[in-house]
Amino acid sequence: MGAATACFLARDHGMAVTVIERDPSYRRASSALSASSIRQQFSQPVNIELSQWSLGFLRRVGDELAVAGQQPAIGLVEPGYLYLATTAGEAALRHNHATQRRHGVDVALLTASALHQRFPWLRCDDLALASLGLSGEGWFDGPALMQAFRRKAIDSGARFVNAQALGFDVQGARVRAVRCADGSVVAADQVVLAAGAWVAPLAAQLQVHLPVAARKRDVFVFDSPATLAGCPLVIDPSGLWFRPEGRSFICGAPPRHGDPDEPALDAIDLAQFEEQLWPALAHRVPGFEALRLRSAWAGYYEMNTFDHNGLAGALPGWDNAFTACGFSGHGMQQAPAVACALAGLMAGRTGDTPSLEPLSPRRLLEGRALLERNVI
Ligand SMILES: Cc1cc2nc3c(=O)[nH]c(=O)nc-3n(C[C@H](O)[C@H](O)[C@H](O)COP(=O)(O)OP(=O)(O)OC[C@H]3O[C@@H](n4cnc5c(N)ncnc54)[C@H](O)[C@@H]3O)c2cc1C
Repeated sequence: MGAATACFLARDHGMAVTVIERDPSYRRASSALSASSIRQQFSQPVNIELSQWSLGFLRRVGDELAVAGQQPAIGLVEPGYLYLATTAGEAALRHNHATQRRHGVDVALLTASALHQRFPWLRCDDLALASLGLSGEGWFDGPALMQAFRRKAIDSGARFVNAQALGFDVQGARVRAVRCADGSVVAADQVVLAAGAWVAPLAAQLQVHLPVAARKRDVFVFDSPATLAGCPLVIDPSGLWFRPEGRSFICGAPPRHGDPDEPALDAIDLAQFEEQLWPALAHRVPGFEALRLRSAWAGYYEMNTFDHNGLAGALPGWDNAFTACGFSGHGMQQAPAVACALAGLMAGRTGDTPSLEPLSPRRLLEGRALLERNVI
């Protein structure tokens, strides 16, 4: 979010931008640890529109973020998302489908028998309905996208400094400068809080409560001799998701034992794979009975515990402070659209991006939740 916003501010609006990053290795950044998939199958129109705009950007990313004639490659593929439902989930799937079709999403509902015909490797006899994205959904190399934004931002004049932001100098309702742990002070006409899972303590320095917390999500990488022609990103009614990753597969599910704030990233629940995910994988794809766990990693969802949706726009009570945070598992795909729209807002110029109004942090004060039913 930070690198993308810096890129659009510098590239499109000629602004002088400084990005304050405490860890240029991005070791724990969500953007370095993401599953980096993009879908249109949301229940909230704003999420559909942001991902549609982002998809267009990702398709032409080589031109958009080229530096000195070098085009970045992010390996975007579009095999779709496949949401599976038992009878219990059928009504919700139909409801979301109607919303998605109204917003031009290329998505189809499939009965269990149609599903089996299309994906013979999938067990369908306990399913009632499925929703398949026919185009415009898939995955890409997220860290490559982040680095491409960073390089383009620098090429457009942005400065990245290695420091930890601690607080702010303010005057009335205006932020004047960012104060860093090393004693440096960065003067600013406008500031954007884009500190991911760690944004809340910074916002608290401005007396704004942002309900964003670090929620660990484990991702498991496995190999299987099974050949799954046309395999999309599959979301199983059990909570399991899986998709191809190169010649391997990756999968995950919500944590089994609650969702504490910021557990250590190396505390991966390997037993979850053995006891829960492998059985669920083998149930849905009989060919997965033979598989080998290869590796695993974990990252933090920057979870907006209020309503699981991004918070983007002006910080309530401040004339020149903004945020882009709390995207709760769909921030990688929305970064291009959100960052472009936010940069436009800050520059006072509207473009062709969707309005960020529905994601305004004002809804926290108004107690108006923007509930997304399709959270993975
Ligand atoms: C396992 C996993 C799977 C995911 N899958 C998907 C997916 O399939 N599709 C999708 O769209 N999204 C997905 N996401 C979510 C997505 O990765 C995030 O929404 C997105 O990366 C958030 O970007 P960000 O810039 O807000 O946060 P980050 O990438 O975490 O960046 C925040 C940066 O702020 C820095 N920082 C923090 N505090 C300070 C400070 N005080 N001073 C200076 N710097 C500071 C950090 O070092 C960090 O580099 C996934 C996330 C995870 C963890």
